[in-house]
Amino acid sequence: MIYLDYASATPVSKTAKTAMEPYFSEKFFNPSSPYLAAKHVREDYETAKAALAHAIGAKVDDVIVTSGATEANNLAFSATDVVIDKSPKILVAETEHASILEMSKNYHTEFIQVDHTGRINLEDFKAKLTEDVGFVSIALVNNELGTIQPLAEIAELIKAERERRLKNDSKLSLFFHSDASQALSLIPISVARLGVDLLTLGSAKVYGPKGIGALYQGHRVKLRPIISGGGQEKGLRSGTENVPGLIGFAAAAKEAVAHQNGARKHYENLRGILKTELEKSPISPIFLGHPKHQLANFCPVSFPGIDAERVIYQLETDEIYLSTGAACAASKGQKSHVLKAIGLSDEEIAGSLRISLGLQNTDEDMKIAGQKIVAAIKKELALR
Ligand code: PLP
Repeated sequence: MIYLDYASATPVSKTAKTAMEPYFSEKFFNPSSPYLAAKHVREDYETAKAALAHAIGAKVDDVIVTSGATEANNLAFSATDVVIDKSPKILVAETEHASILEMSKNYHTEFIQVDHTGRINLEDFKAKLTEDVGFVSIALVNNELGTIQPLAEIAELIKAERERRLKNDSKLSLFFHSDASQALSLIPISVARLGVDLLTLGSAKVYGPKGIGALYQGHRVKLRPIISGGGQEKGLRSGTENVPGLIGFAAAAKEAVAHQNGARKHYENLRGILKTELEKSPISPIFLGHPKHQLANFCPVSFPGIDAERVIYQLETDEIYLSTGAACAASKGQKSHVLKAIGLSDEEIAGSLRISLGLQNTDEDMKIAGQKIVAAIKKELALR
């Protein structure tokens, strides 16, 4: 098998799996129980949370553990409930993940345009950042293109708008949220440097288990619980803690952050080999995303005129697994809103493959996968 869909799920690393193991049957206690064995589990949980917080330059009290990035994104939007104005305007990039786009339907939302590489248009952002905006959400890394957004520059513009409001005696708060769930394994993250008030993390993309994520909550922000009950996670996310999940997530995050430089080199080498093979296609590949500001393990590409879905089925028979877009959009048979937003034609969208590389991939994998993709394209052309 050659797996090239790491942007949708990563296998759980050995370190994460080993760290989680004792918490299923041996140290299974509810961390809120009163006896010593349970208190030890609580300590381990808090230590794991502190490690996760440390990985993004935050304090342990600023991290709320959730069931994944989707829930963290949903919770982040609750910041808007606490602003003075009951219906603030929301700004989101038009390329955001479905969990952001669906939430934004509940608000008066304006979409920030992106250029053909998927980077947001800062002029458009400036123009839309008016005095009635209460919440901005822009992902650090796009999950289909791997394009990295200029978050620090966006944060500067937000800061300037806040200062303007202070001078004008405006009471409307302005919060900055970013979904960084694709980023942690390759980009050093510091919430202070990024200038965000809220930051989403997900375990499933950093070689941790699925069903666990976190939201960083800066001091200026108040949130409303979206799951009520026993009051866990500062009352913001009730429910017995997913101890093995968090232990695995923290171990995976720690490992990923420690190996970011090595991983980047590994991917740059792999991507070079793959691109060389893909260039041999009878239809010239159009490599998507930003040439410089792109996560190193992303290699999205379009072969205009081919039917990418059929190519994917063909490759599956060779045990090569990749996708045409975000897994959730692809499963609904929808055309990617991200590829539409960057201005691809219908033909270019229909011919797009989302290739994302992982730690397990080898040079040999790239050669074989590249050759098989080109062979599948040739077969497609012969059918015409
Ligand atoms: N945000 C981004 C950028 C993602 O890539 C994903 C995963 O596909 C999610 C959110 C949702 O993550 P989860 O399914 O773990 O909730």
